[in-house]
Amino acid sequence: MIAGTNGSAPVRGLWDMKKWMCLASLALVLSVGAAGGFAAEGDKPVAKPVNSKCPMSGKPVDAEKVAVYKGETIGFCCGNCLKKFQADPAKHISKVQRDAKK
Ligand SMILES: [Zn+2]
Repeated sequence: MIAGTNGSAPVRGLWDMKKWMCLASLALVLSVGAAGGFAAEGDKPVAKPVNSKCPMSGKPVDAEKVAVYKGETIGFCCGNCLKKFQADPAKHISKVQRDAKK
């Protein structure tokens, strides 16, 4: 639709309505986007780690020391190993030994 080519009053009223509809759909998109972000936020590492041994030290993993990388929950033995992994996940991911799926 080309706006402003016809300056008569009835058209302007219609244009106002269009503007409001546009704003309403924008608000809808924003609220849906916010809700989606919220869901991702709640998606914290609650999943069980895919590994039972720390990829850094080989010690048993602590269920609370986990990182999510590419959709996998990786467990670590301590906060130090977790930090090291997070500093360069791509480098350390190859050391993760995933448990066999049951
Ligand atoms: Zn450790």
